[in-house]
Amino acid sequence: MSSTNHKNDSDITNDNDNDITNDNAVNENGRQICQFYSKMGACRHGDICIRIHLKPKQSKVICFNKLYDNPKYIKGLKKNNLEQIKEEKYDEDKIQNEINTIYKDLFVELSLSYGYIKKLIICENVNNHLSGNVYVMFKNESDAFKCFKSCNDRWFNNKPIFCELSMCQDFNDANCRSYNSPEGCSRGGLCNFHHIRSPDHKLIEELNKSQNLYYDNM
Ligand SMILES: [Zn+2]
Ligand SMILES: [Zn+2]
Repeated sequence: MSSTNHKNDSDITNDNDNDITNDNAVNENGRQICQFYSKMGACRHGDICIRIHLKPKQSKVICFNKLYDNPKYIKGLKKNNLEQIKEEKYDEDKIQNEINTIYKDLFVELSLSYGYIKKLIICENVNNHLSGNVYVMFKNESDAFKCFKSCNDRWFNNKPIFCELSMCQDFNDANCRSYNSPEGCSRGGLCNFHHIRSPDHKLIEELNKSQNLYYDNM
């Protein structure tokens, strides 16, 4: 693999100006830092990436790996073809209900157990490294750390949880802005930027309101 590998992947530039910049950043040993991992909190090359995946010791953001069982990804895996799943038809109302449920369950549990949540997002990309990832931004690093320590010993939906402190600090920057546009994302589900599946707006409002009341009265 050459050091320009990422540039040939057509995934370094988002359609809408949230490019990866500073692609030549290096660590103290002169090794190139993987900007995808830093920006998105995940990289499609995984552990065999030729660049360094910086793991922060402290962060307000936790990445929960594949916490959401994304039906589009699961179907793609079964058919051994993640590329073609966009041709499939899905019950989007059912998916939206599931997203509402998982968002609410996670938000309430994590906020009550660990601390004030500023933002929670669920990715429905269909690639291995982003599908079903849930990113949670806490208000305080200490709360995120508690969550990270504790959740790796917990289960969710009959699966063990894998989570890590994440370098991804700016959800807007990692977000694929064309995904929720009428045209959709030209890269499909394999896009390397976050394809965020949001719960109903009203639910987010209600949860934020309840959380504010709870923490205001503590
Ligand atoms: Zn990487
Ligand atoms: Zn995209």
